[in-house]
Amino acid sequence: MDCLLVKQDFFSYMDGNLDKEKEELITHHLENCYECSSEFADYIVIVNAISNSTPSIWHEKHNKFVPYTYIRRVAILLMTFSIAWGIYYFVNINRELHSKEKVEVLSLITKNLQYRNLLSESSLVITRQMEYKLAIKTGLERQIKDLHSIEILCENKEYSQAIIRQKKFLSDYPKTLLQKYVYMNLAYTLKTSKRYKDAIGYFKNILKQPIQEQERGKLLWNLSKCYLKLNLEKQYLTTVDRLGTNISYSQYYWKAIRSKADYEFQKYNFLKAEVLYSKYLENNQKIPYIAEKLSWIKYHKNENFYPLILFVQAKQKGIDAYYGLKIILSQYPDSPLALHAFKMCLSPEYLNVIGNEIPSFPIKHDTNKLISYFSDLSMIQSLCEISDYALYRKAILLEKEQKYELAYKVYIKIVSKQEDNTLGKISKKAILRLSKQRRSI
Ligand SMILES: [Zn+2]
Repeated sequence: MDCLLVKQDFFSYMDGNLDKEKEELITHHLENCYECSSEFADYIVIVNAISNSTPSIWHEKHNKFVPYTYIRRVAILLMTFSIAWGIYYFVNINRELHSKEKVEVLSLITKNLQYRNLLSESSLVITRQMEYKLAIKTGLERQIKDLHSIEILCENKEYSQAIIRQKKFLSDYPKTLLQKYVYMNLAYTLKTSKRYKDAIGYFKNILKQPIQEQERGKLLWNLSKCYLKLNLEKQYLTTVDRLGTNISYSQYYWKAIRSKADYEFQKYNFLKAEVLYSKYLENNQKIPYIAEKLSWIKYHKNENFYPLILFVQAKQKGIDAYYGLKIILSQYPDSPLALHAFKMCLSPEYLNVIGNEIPSFPIKHDTNKLISYFSDLSMIQSLCEISDYALYRKAILLEKEQKYELAYKVYIKIVSKQEDNTLGKISKKAILRLSKQRRSI
């Protein structure tokens, strides 16, 4: 029997609510599985403590059994509970008992909700069972059941259902402590299901309320993404600038810097993008695509970024910009952009223009594989200028492999085809270079 399935049934097993067959299966599993049996032991201790007490005296109970259970594998689970227990010292005792218990349980669950993503699947199941048990004790079972079913809908990616239930939750329980959490999650769910306009409304509302900085950063970041999706550039920039001026948003601050850099890059503001990308790289883990973009910007400063503009256009406009890519290949074959432009030309979208079926780029960049790949492509007549670039690429690789004789022949071939353009000219230089080497040998 699967451990997770066993853990899902702990609750019913303990209360004796299972049929005989299932009960025996679980008993058998617990006798043979150390992990499950030790979790079950903890579970019994905690649930008994909860059952035998009222919430306001939990902090006394918790001193008795927490040291014992801490060494067990449910440490995280207990951590969330003990944090919540800690709160009870500070809970206002003057409230009438009934509502005070509810407040305590709801604040415990609010705490737990912050740790959801740290829990393993089985700890999550047990946490929910315990929350439900507490809810029953305090008459909150309907509310907590609704909360859990919303969570499960989101976990199963049933977002449209989740949205309906989240809205219903908010109107069913207008005064609960869980309002803020569910409201926030509704905003995220709307964004995930691409309902950006609706999501923006919710995000803006939450941002008006007092929330902690890290949470505010996350909300602003998601809001900016919604604006970007709807092409609301002005609002996007305002939001991202708000993030990008406050370093206490930590990871969201850096995400904003990167996002702004990408935006400037798309708008051909390469110098602005360069500043932002450099700032990002100086303070964060190296990300290859950013280092690459920086190298493109540096390489093409002297041409007023003309090839880079052609490249970005091709990415944005698709087929219409196909000729821009060919210019990069024939005029700037040594640019670090060229290989990317080449790969783009070989994508199905562009190949429709020339109508060809091309073998895909070798995944493993082993030099000999690449040489024969470029060799194959250079033989396809209909690829025209692209095939000349493939030939040039082949020559460079041969030279790198010190197969000078072969490289020499390929360069000669390029010159015979393309005497006047850049490819021809740099191939002539290569021929001179190789001839000198020949003579010196
Ligand atoms: Zn097990």
